[in-house]
Formats: sequence, structure tokens, C-alpha cells
Amino acid sequence: MSGDTRKISIFGATGSIGESTLDLIGRDPQAYEVVALTGGHNIARLAEQARQFNAQVAVTAHESRLDELRDALAGTGIEAAAGQGALDEAACRPVDWAMSAIVGAAGLEPGLRVLEHHGTLALANKESLVCAGPLLMATAQAHHARVLPVDSEHSAVFQGLVGEDIDAVERIIITASGGAFRDWPLDQLADATLDQASSHPNWDMGQRITIDSASMFNKALELIETKEYFGVDPAKIEVLVHPQSLVHAIVGFNDGGMMAHVGPPDMRHAIGYALHWPERRALPVERLDLAAIGQLEFRAPSDIRYPALRLAREVMAAGGMSGAIFNAAKEIALDGFIAGTIGFMDMGAVVEEALDRLSADTGLVHAAFTLDNVRAADQMGRVTAQEIIDAGL
Ligand code: NDP
Ligand code: MG
Repeated sequence: MSGDTRKISIFGATGSIGESTLDLIGRDPQAYEVVALTGGHNIARLAEQARQFNAQVAVTAHESRLDELRDALAGTGIEAAAGQGALDEAACRPVDWAMSAIVGAAGLEPGLRVLEHHGTLALANKESLVCAGPLLMATAQAHHARVLPVDSEHSAVFQGLVGEDIDAVERIIITASGGAFRDWPLDQLADATLDQASSHPNWDMGQRITIDSASMFNKALELIETKEYFGVDPAKIEVLVHPQSLVHAIVGFNDGGMMAHVGPPDMRHAIGYALHWPERRALPVERLDLAAIGQLEFRAPSDIRYPALRLAREVMAAGGMSGAIFNAAKEIALDGFIAGTIGFMDMGAVVEEALDRLSADTGLVHAAFTLDNVRAADQMGRVTAQEIIDAGL
């Protein structure tokens, strides 16, 4: 990079990934001009961030919170805005680099807008690729814009492929910590509580992805994310349970060699790699002492403990809008678990039933990859999953 400042925006600035991104930006503030910061309910934190980084505009997704945000920014000259239209407008402001770190399918549209305006999109929001991988990647290509992976496993694969020929790749292995219930007896999983599912053994993340790690819905989304981002045959993608979360991914080549990416479980590594790419710059993350760690373990995941992985394989085989349906049904099932309406193992059952019911609708599943069709499939997935929950499974 030249000495010029880079214009950046962060969608989902108040979340775990958003905060880690701002932590890196804040270490070299003169290098960046912050255009938009967005959040949801956490208005106080959003206003604080906007003031600290002198953002052009701060946006909350919730229209009802606009006055509060305006008050918190009074006298600063920073614009306050709210709602989906405002989020969209903020994403249309040209930037060099934007972080997509909203949680859920709601992250898709701002990402598409950034790409349409030629910005580099650092993508933490894996749901964008699960719901609309072909649309997102085609939008990037049409506008000569780049999508850089931020999910730790995908950043690891991306780094493992530097200078390599994708045709020489025989397998891509993404690792999974196994989440909060890795070592629980199977018959106790149905009774797992929200508190138990919300604490991760290795990573400090937002609540939703932490629960998705315990159920492996997170890894299921990441299988689909791998297929969509790297364009590889699903049969080449594997998941390995690796309790230490230090090897994030392994790329296996046609000569039998395997490149493993090893790093501390700190998202600032993957965020920093995407921020400085194609350069590597020093990052404030722990340096691992492998001798002190001593052992790295790997084991195959169980389809019984983690039905989400089997469902992801079915979704990859079906293609089309089934990713959007899968993700939407998962979001509703997760809402149900968080609200205490359904149990931990019911989440998989709800998603499977929603997929079964909707896969018969070939018009829906095999519609062209437009934003309207993705929205329709997302909506059908939500409604169907909610009906299944309301009917008592
Ligand atoms: P958090 O829940 O911590 O943060 C989510 C962010 O999105 C917050 O800023 C939140 O606002 C905002 N938000 C929530 N709902 C909406 C909505 N409907 N519309 C607009 N904004 C919304 O999530 P994480 O930071 O953990 O995760 C963000 C994304 O990154 C997810 O896609 C996740 O899968 C992915 N990811 C996260 C990792 C991690 O380590 N955390 C690792 C790899 C990927 P507010 O809090 O103000 O309500
Ligand atoms: Mg990940």
C-alpha cells in the first residue's frame, strides 16, 4: 500500500468480529478513513466507536433506535441513520475495504452493495456464501471487486493456496473444535441448556456462532462456504475435530503433500490478513509455543452427534436455493433454542424437516440466483421452520 489513507466501512461493528477489526484499525488510525460503522441494538457502543474513529456515518439496523443514536452523536457532525434503507445507502458509499460482520442472512445485501461499488469485501459473514454464493461471487467478478475470506478456516485455506494451482488440490480439510459439548455423553445433549451451549472452549465469539459451534451448524455452514468460495467438489472437503483449535485448515495436494495452517485462536490473525492482503504485516496476536503445547489431536466427527454435517452435504448436493433455505431454517431453529422453545438437539430436526418439505418445490429450489429469489427462499425457510416449531415438531 502507498502512504495514502484507506477508506473503510465495517458492517456489524459492534459485534465480536467488528470489535476485533476496530482493534486493529485503532492501532494505526492515521492509515484509515472510516466511512460507515453499523450496528444493531447496541447504540451506546456504536456511538462510542463512531466518535473514536470519527466515522462519516453510523447506522443502526433498527429504525426505532434512530433518535437514541442521534442524541448520542449530537454535536459531533457524524451522521446518524437507521433501518435497512440506511444500511443499504451506507454500503453504497465507495470504500477501498469493507468488513462484512453482520450475523445471519442480513449480512448479504450490504456485502453485495460494497462489491457493486468496487470495494474489497472482507467476508466474515459466512451466511452470504451459504445463501447466495454464486450471486456474491458473480457480483464480485462483474464489478472487478474482490472477496477475501475472514472465517479462520477459509483464511487458512486461502493462505495455503498462495502460489498453488487449485487443480492440484485433492482435498481441503477444515478443522472444528467440537464446541462446548465435544466430550458430553450423547444422551445428555438433548438437555443442554442455553448457558452451557453459549460458552466455547477455545474461541471468544458472538453468542449465535458459539451455539452453532456446539451443534456444528457452524461447521456445516463452513463446508458450504468452502465449496462456494473455492469452487471445489464437495467430495474433496473434509471436517476433522481438532480440540486445540490451532490447526485451522489443511490443504492436501496431488503429490501427497499437505499444507497445514497453524495459528492462535484469535480472529485478529484472519482479519489482519484480509486487511493487509496481499502483504503480511505484524499483528498483535500470541506467538505459539508448540513445545509447551506438546500435542495436537485430530479425530473424525460423528454424524450422530452432529447431524448438521450430514445436512450440509445434502444441501451441497442439491445446490440452488437449498443453502438459503438451510440457513434460514437454522436461524429460526437457533432463535427457538435461545428463546427456550425447543431443545438443543431439536435444532437439527427442525432444519431437516424444513429442508425435506421445501426440497419438493423444485421451482423454489432451482430458481435463478437473483437477490429476489434468494430472499424468497430465505423467507420460505423461515416460515416453514417456524411452522414446524409451532406445531411442536
Ligand atoms: P456478533 O453477534 O458478535 O455481532 C453481530 C453484529 O451484527 C453486531 O454488530 C450486531 O449489532 C449486528 N447485527 C445483528 N443482527 C443484525 C441485523 N439483523 N441487521 C444488521 N445488523 C445486525 O457476531 P460475530 O461478530 O460473532 O459474527 C459476525 C459474523 O462473522 C457472523 O456471520 C459469524 O458467523 C462470522 N464469524 C464470526 C467469528 C467470531 O469469532 N466471532 C469467526 C468466524 C466467522 P448489535 O450487537 O449492536 O445488536
Ligand atoms: Mg470458522
